[in-house]
Amino acid sequence: MSAEIRSYWKNYIAGEWCDSSDNGRIVVINPATGRPICDVARGTAGDIEKAVAAARACFDARVLLDMPPHERGALMFRIADELENAADEIATVECFDNGKTLANGRAEIPLTQRYLRYYGGLADKLEGRQIPLGPGMLDYTIHAPFGVSAQIVPWNGPLPVGARSIACALVTGNTVVLKSPEDSPLSLFLFAEACERAGVPKGAVNIVCGLGPEAGAALVGHHDIDHIVFTGSVETGRSVLRAAAERVIPCVMELGGKSGAIVFPDADLDQVEASAAAGIFKHAGQICSAGSRLIVHRSVHDEVVSRLVTRAESLSVGPGIEGCDLGPLISDRQLERVEALCRAGVAEGATLVTGGSRVTGLEGFFMEPTVFTGVRPEMRIAQEEFFGPVVVIIPFETTEEAVAIANGTDYGLAAGLYTRDLSLAHSMADRLVAGQIYINQWWAGGVETPFGGMKRSGYGREKGREALLGYVQTKNVGIRL
Ligand code: NAD
Repeated sequence: MSAEIRSYWKNYIAGEWCDSSDNGRIVVINPATGRPICDVARGTAGDIEKAVAAARACFDARVLLDMPPHERGALMFRIADELENAADEIATVECFDNGKTLANGRAEIPLTQRYLRYYGGLADKLEGRQIPLGPGMLDYTIHAPFGVSAQIVPWNGPLPVGARSIACALVTGNTVVLKSPEDSPLSLFLFAEACERAGVPKGAVNIVCGLGPEAGAALVGHHDIDHIVFTGSVETGRSVLRAAAERVIPCVMELGGKSGAIVFPDADLDQVEASAAAGIFKHAGQICSAGSRLIVHRSVHDEVVSRLVTRAESLSVGPGIEGCDLGPLISDRQLERVEALCRAGVAEGATLVTGGSRVTGLEGFFMEPTVFTGVRPEMRIAQEEFFGPVVVIIPFETTEEAVAIANGTDYGLAAGLYTRDLSLAHSMADRLVAGQIYINQWWAGGVETPFGGMKRSGYGREKGREALLGYVQTKNVGIRL
């Protein structure tokens, strides 16, 4: 595998590779060392203007809409094939700019290909309805694209998150301007190269890296976009929604989470141990749907705590490129946030069983895998998103209490439970307020299953067939024959 990182990367606008309009650059830092690895062009409002104009021109010229849907689908398959040629470089940049482990960096490629092929396959299957109106009348519906889809992607999974939104947009005939994350922009540049090689029409996909308040705000506030897909924090999401409200633009909002899993007394504890540990320690907990709360029946509480602490303490923490289990957090700022929230937990009276601090002796932004017990549901550590490798364990006695704790946050992204009782599992699936319910395996689901939030975790769905419906609007055609 090549560990070479190119020293400078340009934005992809109207099928051309462009410097920033004011020649500005962003320095990309390797979170595993704290040191710069390369520069990328710093997209400005002017660059966003150019990108939106290119996407608009491509949409208005009906370049994608004039293709039969199956050809738009075939285009997704070609992009997926082209990603294969960049697989080594993608895995490398995911380790270097994102802090992923090598295994997770490698796993991004087949995952992204699955999204592209899944939506490529659905391109010719989005059918309208014929509605019976009686004699002499014909009525049918059309799924019409919105136009220019503005997409904002977070740093933690830019390639699969960006690719799945782009695929949904293109197969439904929209064009895209995507603002890639300033902290980890590199894999999406490689995706843009794959689009170019695959023959994606010029202007159909534009990828601009820039700072959120600069390029991001310019994009979501642009007068000529028709649709927004935002994945990121609730706080930024609110400002995106305010911009969208000005022009009454539809949005798909994928926001944060504080997802909890309930461990019932009859659960298979081997399964709980493996699944709960993966759910919070994968990518050092920097996953929106991480299982960050464990709500455990008192009868198995001590056993679950002991197993999870043993797991946490057995994980190797260090640079992903070296094959460690747990990579760094994305930035020193994020590390400080996580440490500060841990300190708040201790101050509120929770018991810090293991972890709680940055790893000393390593250069980068590494956080110890952390387990809290003695946590009350109202504590900040049980309510606020860490976005780090920190799990809080809350005991319960009755099922009613467990449901109240599980549903008792502002978020509603994911919820889970561990039990062998099928009836209990189904009734809990009904009562837990979250967009996805994981039973006996955290992240049970896949590319095919709809994903998204309830409450402050957002609305609209990515993944699965449902996602496509977020990229089209229904047009009804009524005819007197
Ligand atoms: P963030 O909100 O800080 O940034 C997300 C994106 O928004 C970045 O590209 C950023 O540049 C951009 N941005 C920042 N300010 C902006 C503005 N004023 N206008 C427009 N764009 C702006 O979030 P983050 O720290 O990058 O990501 C972590 C958050 O994302 C967590 O809360 C996590 O739960 C959430 N997330 C959710 C999902 C999901 O599918 N639900 C997936 C991944 C991450």
